Amino acid sequence: MRCFVAISLPSSPLLAKVKEECTGMGRQVESKNLHLTLKFLGELSGVDSLRRSLGEIRQSSFTVTLMGLGAFPNQRRARVLFARAGPEKNLNELAREVDEKTKEVPLDHPFTPHITILRSKGGRDFTEVIARYRDVIFLEHEVRYFSLYESILKPTGPIYNEIERYQLM
Ligand code: ATP
Ligand code: MG
Repeated sequence: MRCFVAISLPSSPLLAKVKEECTGMGRQVESKNLHLTLKFLGELSGVDSLRRSLGEIRQSSFTVTLMGLGAFPNQRRARVLFARAGPEKNLNELAREVDEKTKEVPLDHPFTPHITILRSKGGRDFTEVIARYRDVIFLEHEVRYFSLYESILKPTGPIYNEIERYQLM
C-alpha cells in the first residue's frame, strides 16, 4: 500500500478564501484532506515493523502556524500551491525523527514544511495570490499527534485512511 506520515490539519476561513480565489486554477485539496507530510513512504508491502518503530517517537506537542503561501517548483509555473508551516524547529525535529524510525525507506526530497492547497497539472502563475497573502496567518493549531496514513489514489482524488495515530507529549 501507498503510505505517508503526516499531521492532519483543519481548514480555516482564510484558507477557504484562498481556495475560492483560486477557483479554476487546479484541483483543490478537500478540507478533510489538509495535511502536512512529514515523510512520504510510497508503496510498502507491509507496515507492521514501521508502525511499531514510529511508536517509539517521544516529542512534545506544539502549535503549528500556517503563514504565507508558496509554490512548487516555482511561482510562475506552479504545479503545487501551498501554505508555509512553522515553527521550523519543531517540524524539522519531528520529520527527522520520523525519517530515523523509517530508515529502510529512503528520503527522496529534503523536508520542506508545507500544506498543499491546490495542484495544477499544466503549471499556473500564482505570483499575485502569493504576494497578496504574504505574512498572512491562515491558521494556528495545537498539534497533539501525527499519523501514519494509507493513500488510495482515485480519479476523483485521493482517499487517505489513518492507519495509526501517535500522540505527542
Ligand atoms: P494526488 O497524487 O492524487 O494529487 P496526493 O499527492 O495527495 O494526491 P499521494 O500522492 O499519495 O496523494 O501523496 C500523499 C502525500 O505525500 C502528499 O502530501 C504528497 O504531496 C506527498 N508526496 C507524494 N509523493 C511524494 C514524493 N515523491 N516525495 C515527497 N512527498 C510526496
Ligand atoms: Mg501525489
